[in-house]
Amino acid sequence: MKEESLLVKAGRKFKDYKGSMNPPVYHSSTILFPTYKDYLNAANGKSIYDVLNDGVARDYSYGSVGTPTVHYLSNALAEIEGRGQALICPSGLFALTFAILTFTKVGSHVLIQDNSYYRLKRFAENELPKRGVKVTFYDPTQDITDLVQSNTSLIMIETPGSITFEISNVEHIVKVAKERGIVTVCDNSWATPLLFKPLDYGIDVALYAVTKYLAGHSDLLMGAIIAEGEIFKLLYESYKNYGVTIQSHDCYLAHRGLRTLHTRMKRHQNTAMEVAKWLEKHSKIKKVLYPALPSHPQHELWKSYFKGASGTFSIALDREYSCEELSCMVDHMKIFSIGASWGGCDSLILPIDRRSMSRSVMNSDYGGSFIRICCGLEDSEDLIFDLNDALKRLSCLDFQNDEVGHETERITA
Ligand SMILES: *Cc1c(COP(=O)(O)O)cnc(C)c1O
Repeated sequence: MKEESLLVKAGRKFKDYKGSMNPPVYHSSTILFPTYKDYLNAANGKSIYDVLNDGVARDYSYGSVGTPTVHYLSNALAEIEGRGQALICPSGLFALTFAILTFTKVGSHVLIQDNSYYRLKRFAENELPKRGVKVTFYDPTQDITDLVQSNTSLIMIETPGSITFEISNVEHIVKVAKERGIVTVCDNSWATPLLFKPLDYGIDVALYAVTKYLAGHSDLLMGAIIAEGEIFKLLYESYKNYGVTIQSHDCYLAHRGLRTLHTRMKRHQNTAMEVAKWLEKHSKIKKVLYPALPSHPQHELWKSYFKGASGTFSIALDREYSCEELSCMVDHMKIFSIGASWGGCDSLILPIDRRSMSRSVMNSDYGGSFIRICCGLEDSEDLIFDLNDALKRLSCLDFQNDEVGHETERITA
């Protein structure tokens, strides 16, 4: 079956739903069994109820390991990934922190990209030292061989990286990890399994902020972890120990989002490409950081790994602008809204606070203020008009600032 068709069908079993096209939203803390033996068997993966896909035996004895609605979604995600099994988490961030807690112990060392999602960086800086885990932040475009230590148990990958959108040197990282028995986890939220499949490159765990493109409608927070064999078993044991749960209704919505994923991703890419090309020619913009543009520093590497690009990228302005100046640009836009996150239907814009930026950004020579742009499903010409007006407001500010300056002088005088 082609991927487009699979996305529409994945994880759904209408015969289980008495013919209803959509899965029911089960509200249940408890699973009931006709006999005590049935209950005991369920914990060992021998359930009388057929809700989980084959593979590693999964516990289906209590609601804390998921209602059928949760499993319909996890089955769908594993089908789309093309291998392994999926675990659903309450947020993308939790999926990241949970993976780290699973593959580290006191005395472990972890490598995390220096351009990684900033809340992951914050977790690594604030929480891991309390647990006796050491971290090195690495540049994913450089040789990492010398950064690995005898106690390195995990390498976190995120490609492209947040904000600066470098493409990680995945094959090199995986080679180094495999030679030393180090687990690799790849945050693949930007590409989704449609554009990049981490497990096919030897990465052990594919991880998603389902919140973003997979669910796709900005109406829920969710994460997913997909792995195979022994690695999945380790994750699954931790998962049960930590009591990770997720609500059925959110899983229903995320599952529904998958059906349009292909259509949305294609549109996001086309729109983002038009917008990015237009921005690239604008005098106020020093650099457009979109891997699908030939001007992107790792464009060739991107082409070798990815089947396409999503609709989220950054721009570096021609100089550093103040908070007031950036507000003047992005406040009151007609289509773009100001907000964190990305991957939904609505276009979003967000100036990036330097303090939440990574080392490689600080070392980069782009110079100007960074703004993240997420192109939604609106018309690309409308988006360009909106950005054009916003950038004009940035240009007339130099003049306004002068006026404000005189005003202040007068007041203080
Ligand atoms: C948003 C994001 C996350 C976190 O997802 P939430 O569901 O919002 O917690 C993780 N990784 C990346 C790359 C993200 O952009």
